Amino acid sequence: MKEKIYKLINQLYFEHDLMEEDLVYLLDNLEDETRTYLLGLAYDTRNNHYGKAVYMRGLIEFTNYCKRECKYCGINAYNKDAKRYRMSKKDILSTCSIGYKLGFRTFVLQGGEDPYFTDKRICDIVRTVKERFSDVAVTLSLGERSRESYKVMKMAGADRFLLRHETSNPDLYRWLHPFSSLDSRIECLHSLKYTGFQTGAGFMVGLPWYTNRDYARDLRFLKELEPEMIGIGPFIPHSSTSMKDYRPGSLDQTVLMLAILRLLLPKVLLPATTALASVDTRGRKKGLDAGANVIMPNLTPLRYRGDYSLYNNKKSTGSESAEALKMIKQELESYGYMADMSRGDSKMCD
Ligand code: SAM
Repeated sequence: MKEKIYKLINQLYFEHDLMEEDLVYLLDNLEDETRTYLLGLAYDTRNNHYGKAVYMRGLIEFTNYCKRECKYCGINAYNKDAKRYRMSKKDILSTCSIGYKLGFRTFVLQGGEDPYFTDKRICDIVRTVKERFSDVAVTLSLGERSRESYKVMKMAGADRFLLRHETSNPDLYRWLHPFSSLDSRIECLHSLKYTGFQTGAGFMVGLPWYTNRDYARDLRFLKELEPEMIGIGPFIPHSSTSMKDYRPGSLDQTVLMLAILRLLLPKVLLPATTALASVDTRGRKKGLDAGANVIMPNLTPLRYRGDYSLYNNKKSTGSESAEALKMIKQELESYGYMADMSRGDSKMCD
């Protein structure tokens, strides 16, 4: 059996592909030794394509208003305990300005699905950011919109868009999002690709009732979609949601998923996410060692930061000051990595 596992891992490493059945077999039968081998190959693969550079993205959580009902999320529309905020255009621009002076060349504008931010308002913000800071990339992460909306945002100058598919299991998707469907989420991802965005998809690790078959399907879905970016992180319960009593996803399972994704899509941009750093203090290092190559320090003004509460004990890796950024860079150096402040486009675009 061990021989077969090594063969499958080598196939992942050399061919960047594995069928669903083989992925299930691999996940069912990994042991310490074979797991260490797989993680090592993911580490080598990241080094081959990106070296020890870790791309830095300045995250701006610009609104926590949300019309969606995602059961797991602390800012869902039903959570009456959430203290809502919405950053003004002026606020967003001055946050970008602080980030720009610190050296960031990618800004990620993330928010709930807030109807206030019409296409017109988003396009105006994107256009102004791109005019003022001509060498930055703008990543949007604001949920499901029509293909037409994505098109105008792209034309306004946005470069990338993050929209996790969350889970490839349609029944679980429906349970987690009672009034939405996996099909429309996937349709949005295809629209984003079609529109020319560098597109990011991804899923949560450790959702209730998840099986290795589900993980294998998530991995296959991503392999076939070929996004430029993949965001995955553990599910972490939020005390004001109906999922407050479910168990969080584990560090080890998330790290394993990162490593397999690095092997399936060697050039993909793969963040060691905030959720991973929140679930365990060693999360960021372990994520990077398993092939991740991006981190997203938080630029959201401190007065809002606590209110963008997606899950409990969210780690706040702030970089609002030079001092805070220096500490993040030192942390990376202590792990043997180096912060890269450039735009950091995906090498899949080369
Ligand atoms: N509204 C946008 C969207 O739907 O893509 C972006 C904001 S949404 C809050 C960003 C991501 O947070 C989601 O894709 C989801 O995977 C993650 N998230 C929300 N609640 C979470 C939780 N309790 N645990 C882990 N991740 C969570």
